[in-house]
Amino acid sequence: MDGAGMDTDLQTLLSDAAGGHRISEADALRLFGIRDRDLWKIAAAADEKRENVVGNAVTYVRNQNINVTNLCVNACGFCGFSKKPGDEGIYFHDRQAIEEKSRLAKSRGVSEICTVSGLHPAFTAQSYIDVYRWICEAAPGVHLHAGNPMEVAYAARQSSMSTKEVLSQMKAAGLASMCGTAAEILVDPIREKICPQKISTEEWIRIIREAHHLGIPTTATIMYGHCESDADRVRHLAILRQIQDETLGFTEFVPLSFVHMNTPIYRAGLARAGATGREDGLMVAVSRLFLDNFRNIQVSWVKEGIKMAQLGLLAGANDLGGTMYEESISKGAGATNTDYLDPAEMQRVAEDIGRSLCRRTTLYKKA
Ligand code: SF4
Repeated sequence: MDGAGMDTDLQTLLSDAAGGHRISEADALRLFGIRDRDLWKIAAAADEKRENVVGNAVTYVRNQNINVTNLCVNACGFCGFSKKPGDEGIYFHDRQAIEEKSRLAKSRGVSEICTVSGLHPAFTAQSYIDVYRWICEAAPGVHLHAGNPMEVAYAARQSSMSTKEVLSQMKAAGLASMCGTAAEILVDPIREKICPQKISTEEWIRIIREAHHLGIPTTATIMYGHCESDADRVRHLAILRQIQDETLGFTEFVPLSFVHMNTPIYRAGLARAGATGREDGLMVAVSRLFLDNFRNIQVSWVKEGIKMAQLGLLAGANDLGGTMYEESISKGAGATNTDYLDPAEMQRVAEDIGRSLCRRTTLYKKA
């Protein structure tokens, strides 16, 4: 096929996708492979689809992170956050500290507290349940967005319980929605390279489904730009789309660009120095076009910086995530400026591209 033929073909694919047709894994793979100015066409189609699906508001949530501890029994190769016993810089927040942080969050007017931590060697299911209860009691009315399938699996293993039972008890303690992290890339040979101690793809899917069936919505994430291929990314997106078809339990999709600087896999030469700008742009745009059953695509200013995040808003994304007081996971991996983004700056970025900023709740209601 000559160049002009390819172009027509691409135009048809993009206008079909922008109009709401489901695209195939082969289509997504083709889009991820684009290296020239056609990238802007893909971004434009994704932006059009974003407008059709969710309108023109750029949303954000006012939230605060509380990482209870950075001590972790796992040693994921992309993680610059976790510490081992004897390392410098270990922290552990006790009940009093957690309650104080929760009260402070409430006084700052956040609508969401988010907590994810290292897998502390002494943690049991009860430890997670206690932490959730302390937060909810100290910050009544604030939405608790916490845990992830790895933490649920760990809590279950430590306490010889089923993951379903753990999730039910977490929900009873105040868990209102769960983070869809620990997904990384849902392709086992890649997981074996970057996080061999983490739960398998199958287990991640099972726990997410359990959460959704118990009425615990979750986010969906991908961590890309290390040693995965375009085909791995597509497989990952296909898994998310299939789960969403079944449960409608994902609130949003959050692409997380690999922050490489302080990570073991990068230092050992096993990972690239993160995604390029082309890849960051395509990840947002192709996700918007492929994930036709997701309303919300978030760009992470923590991972990408606000300038790339703004371009993401022109390539299919509609959400800027949280204001985030106290971010420490990306900071541990070497990212800078991760602590807090003032809504005034979000507003400047949104209005600069002719859109308005709108504060939302965790579940995308108007705040
Ligand atoms: S990514 Fe999570 S589970 Fe893996 S080492 Fe870091 S804190 Fe531990």
